[in-house]
Amino acid sequence: MLRDFMLDTLGLMGRHFKQVRGTLDAGLTIFNFHDVSDTPAPFVDEQGCNVTTALFRKQVDFISSNFNVVPAEACLAGDLPARPALITFDDGYAGTFNNALPILREDRLPSVVLVNMSPILGGNFWAERTTYLCRKVESFQKFLIAEGLASEANVHQAHVECTQGLVDRYESEYGADYLAELDSYNQPYATTGNLEEADEDPNVTLGSHLYTHYNVRTLSDEMLLDQHRKNNAALAGYRRFKPLFAFPFGQPGSCFTQRQADLLLQNGADLLLTAWPSPNADSSSRILDRISLTPEHNTDRKLWAQVVKYPVLKMLGRAREPWAQSD
Ligand SMILES: [Zn+2]
Repeated sequence: MLRDFMLDTLGLMGRHFKQVRGTLDAGLTIFNFHDVSDTPAPFVDEQGCNVTTALFRKQVDFISSNFNVVPAEACLAGDLPARPALITFDDGYAGTFNNALPILREDRLPSVVLVNMSPILGGNFWAERTTYLCRKVESFQKFLIAEGLASEANVHQAHVECTQGLVDRYESEYGADYLAELDSYNQPYATTGNLEEADEDPNVTLGSHLYTHYNVRTLSDEMLLDQHRKNNAALAGYRRFKPLFAFPFGQPGSCFTQRQADLLLQNGADLLLTAWPSPNADSSSRILDRISLTPEHNTDRKLWAQVVKYPVLKMLGRAREPWAQSD
């Protein structure tokens, strides 16, 4: 109740502060979605990262009536109008292509879809797999605690600590029967047919979200570059592919380091996208933050609150800084 009141007040007032207006007008606000579906599977529902088609329309109306939506090419060229916004989607779910893109097409709005090709090609559903293991599989929870990687209190959130080697070790000891249960847990991914169709749409840009949805911070340089190259190779045949990269899980510090960001920039990535929920004051930066829109952002005031929250906290000297856990 109090939180609702505070968010409403922030949404109503925040955008009128001169400093906030300056950031939005001269910077770049990037919005991020995951899936858009009226029949979400448990994984995206539990994560709060699916919005219904009706809410998506409302959120897109909010964006297009308050911002100038630009294509990725304009960001890469540094050629932006006042108060620009970019619309992005992570992961590459079927609903993004079948439900969200048709809605954007009606209004001729450009967007970027950043995909992991491993799940699209039927490979490793890493985010779902590790989330399921940490939340639902007791033997895995005990295994993680015994390995010293989690405590009773935080084991449900420990998926970002999991590595392929760790899961392989668990499976060699306990088996992999749980994998059959993932079919009904996972949100369906796009097909290569969806990608081919999107490739015909001049308003869509395709980008990379790593081949498998690993937490970059847990990867060696060699493995990171291998995963990066593998995804780029799988996307290279699509004309709409551009070297944009969104970090899986996306939190600066806990999900990637500044050094890893530099490594990707030196190895072919032109622009890196985070999940730090802030508008960008400097649109020319090669690492840009993104504001995630979820089911709770369902009124204009709550949408504004989500946009201005970080700049207002910063103005008040109360903002948490990104990269807190970085090396
Ligand atoms: Zn993702």
